[in-house]
Amino acid sequence: MYIMLFGGYLARLPALWRCFGSRKERLLATFDFDKTIIDVDSYHVLSQLLSPAQRTEQLFALIHNSDWLTFIQRVLRLLQLEQCLSAAQIGQHTRRLPPVPGMLHLLRRMQRYPALDMCIVSDANSYMIGEWLAAHGLEHIFKAGIHTNPVSVQPDGQLLVEPYELQTHCDQCPTNMCKGNVMHTLMNSCDVTYSRIIYVGDGCNDLCAIRRLRPDDVACIRRGEELHDKLPGHRHELSCQLLDWRDGHELEDKLFATVLHL
Ligand SMILES: [Mg+2]
Ligand SMILES: [Zn+2]
Repeated sequence: MYIMLFGGYLARLPALWRCFGSRKERLLATFDFDKTIIDVDSYHVLSQLLSPAQRTEQLFALIHNSDWLTFIQRVLRLLQLEQCLSAAQIGQHTRRLPPVPGMLHLLRRMQRYPALDMCIVSDANSYMIGEWLAAHGLEHIFKAGIHTNPVSVQPDGQLLVEPYELQTHCDQCPTNMCKGNVMHTLMNSCDVTYSRIIYVGDGCNDLCAIRRLRPDDVACIRRGEELHDKLPGHRHELSCQLLDWRDGHELEDKLFATVLHL
């Protein structure tokens, strides 16, 4: 039995060496998408394309129950089946969504910062995020991944949004995505150690992720949005530093004056 156990460790040595022997130390900047990179909620804007008759109380009750995934799937079905919009036309609408002022400049500047990886953690979906980033030439800058609900185009052209995960361990987050769990995975990567994490978000669904941050990490919370307003009630749950911002210009000034100064 001892031989078997020892043999097991030997077999895992290459993986253990990767984890403890040669990890790179880097910074990680994590961005939410809706109301953080773009200045609107993408699901809300798409729902505005529906006819008044399609905007039923029953449909919007899904939002009040935080069932975003079912909501956006129904909106996409109505747009495609009843309004006959193609996936490409929905993509065109998405591409025109406005960025938060100054955010494009900030993202492009951060992209050039040495030793910094960037990622998106969003409960939107890969189609809308991908279309928007491509419209601004930013689709390749998030080297640490775009963690969101995947979308596939069906043979009939329908967009199908699938859950990022099916989680049951966190009752603070929807079953399709626990942002805290995504952060845990990023923080425990075998390939890279993040000595400091910058988390940029605006909504209450970012709270679970921010709870995971460590004392040297910085949560950048957008002023005037729902999480900033509710933050005083949750301050005791957080270990990280806090930075508030209203637009990309202010966030850039504050980040490059403190966290990202060379
Ligand atoms: Mg948001
Ligand atoms: Zn969670």
